Amino acid sequence: MAPFPAVVFDLDGTLTLPGTSRPAPGVVALVEGLHAAGVDLAVATSASTAVARRVLDDLGLRGCFAAVAGRGVDGRFEGKEAVVGEALLGLGLTVAAPGTPMLGDAPGDMAAAVAHGLVPVGVAWSGAREDALRAAGATAVLHRPDELWALGAS
Ligand SMILES: [Mg+2]
Repeated sequence: MAPFPAVVFDLDGTLTLPGTSRPAPGVVALVEGLHAAGVDLAVATSASTAVARRVLDDLGLRGCFAAVAGRGVDGRFEGKEAVVGEALLGLGLTVAAPGTPMLGDAPGDMAAAVAHGLVPVGVAWSGAREDALRAAGATAVLHRPDELWALGAS
């Protein structure tokens, strides 16, 4: 059985090192492992959707993601909460199943997760402040990508 119903990822600073298209250490293995376990995966980013797709292509992870939601070609961006909603729709969901984590390195990611009933999981590997993530609602803060598996074990 899949450890999570689905997982939503922020892109910059979560899947990639901040401001780069290089993968954060351990992220590729996590994404590939989740995909292999049958977990539906989505990206929700303030980057443009086209750029996000290209970054995922470069990481060799594009095929693992069923939904990639970001800024439109017209540059319009209505906030992280809206883009997370779009990512969920891309997974065919209007409401996320209980226990669906959203991973992000910014307080806004945590707030968007809370707004959609996702489990807000902060990531600290890009240098984000753990206390700021917790203040924004993070129920867990990961220091390494493979720590996510423990959250799905119960
Ligand atoms: Mg980020």
